[in-house]
Amino acid sequence: MNYTELAPAYVRAIAPYLPGKPISEVARELGLKESEIIKLASNENPLGTGEKAKAAMRKAIEEAHLYPDGAGFELKQAIAKKFGVAMDGIVIGNGSNDLLDYIAMAFLAPGVSAVYGQHCFAVYPITTLARGATGIEVPAKAYGSDLDGMLKAIRPDTRLVFVANPNNPTGAFSPYDELRAFLKKVPENVIVVLDEAYNDFLPQELRADTVAWLKEFPNLVLTRTFCKIYGLAGLRVGYMLAGPQICDMVNRVRAPFNVNSIAQAAAIAALGDEEFVARGYANNRAGMAQIEAGIKALGLSFIPSFANFITMDVGNGPVVFQALLKRGVIVRPIANYGLPRHVRVTIGLPEENARFLAALKEALAEVGEP
Ligand SMILES: *Cc1c(COP(=O)(O)O)cnc(C)c1O
Repeated sequence: MNYTELAPAYVRAIAPYLPGKPISEVARELGLKESEIIKLASNENPLGTGEKAKAAMRKAIEEAHLYPDGAGFELKQAIAKKFGVAMDGIVIGNGSNDLLDYIAMAFLAPGVSAVYGQHCFAVYPITTLARGATGIEVPAKAYGSDLDGMLKAIRPDTRLVFVANPNNPTGAFSPYDELRAFLKKVPENVIVVLDEAYNDFLPQELRADTVAWLKEFPNLVLTRTFCKIYGLAGLRVGYMLAGPQICDMVNRVRAPFNVNSIAQAAAIAALGDEEFVARGYANNRAGMAQIEAGIKALGLSFIPSFANFITMDVGNGPVVFQALLKRGVIVRPIANYGLPRHVRVTIGLPEENARFLAALKEALAEVGEP
């Protein structure tokens, strides 16, 4: 019996998600010490986890035998207070990935479609196909979202449009005036999921109050995460903001205890730790400048990034990835995103960025310049 045949054809058609390699795996495979390896592969926070979040976690451990608050009351209350939104306009998730899945579960089915861009986050096609829905991929514009193209791609059967801004894995950003003009043109019966995993890294002058847009666009969903600038990737916690009817449908398909109690406690503390977020932002801006200067000096071209990573053309992504791995530097090859010449590198601490640049120079000398 081939058990894969029991799965619907649309599930068998899904290309598996390829995560960044964990440090422990690289250590085992290459016989390196874990302490010699740096991971710049999954857009995690190089500053680690904030002390306030850690303290909240330690406290929450004492009640780990109890189920978490399935409604996430305290975390939602903290989010509601910070952003001035109603409690019934918030859903919390086991990472924002969880919410993307629930949004797809609630609104997609065989016979309907979702629109997303070329080089988009891999979860959009995965979650669309997992529902048996049709994915419509719109060619990218300058490695980012072609919003006009996405608008044109919307069909009568389209239920969702996914836009990450900034986008992962390219780091491209659609200015908010363009995004707002796009939202004005999207039909009201199509839900736009604006994935804001990286908006905390945007320079101040490019930011916009997208939460205020929720009043104007009842078909808008914002998804956000504590896994990036808030430094809680290992805990898996995120949230979405949307109108009460959309949240209601998402809550109906949500696993009752989808966010664990330690993650909820840490997220509340992290949300209030503005000093930690500010340090993460500053480290990222400085590191971005450092890496940009380094790769320019190596003569490489790169996609200007508005997030906490940078994607560069190294000629042959998978080969350079391996050459870096041997040197204890884990980055992300992104051939599976339609970018076989590129690697994506998360901005690290200054010394990690320097180590990456030195390893890249050696790797290119070994495998050949692009
Ligand atoms: C990292 C990331 C997320 C967040 O995922 P979590 O499940 O919260 O870890 C969402 N969208 C994009 C585009 C991302 O890169």
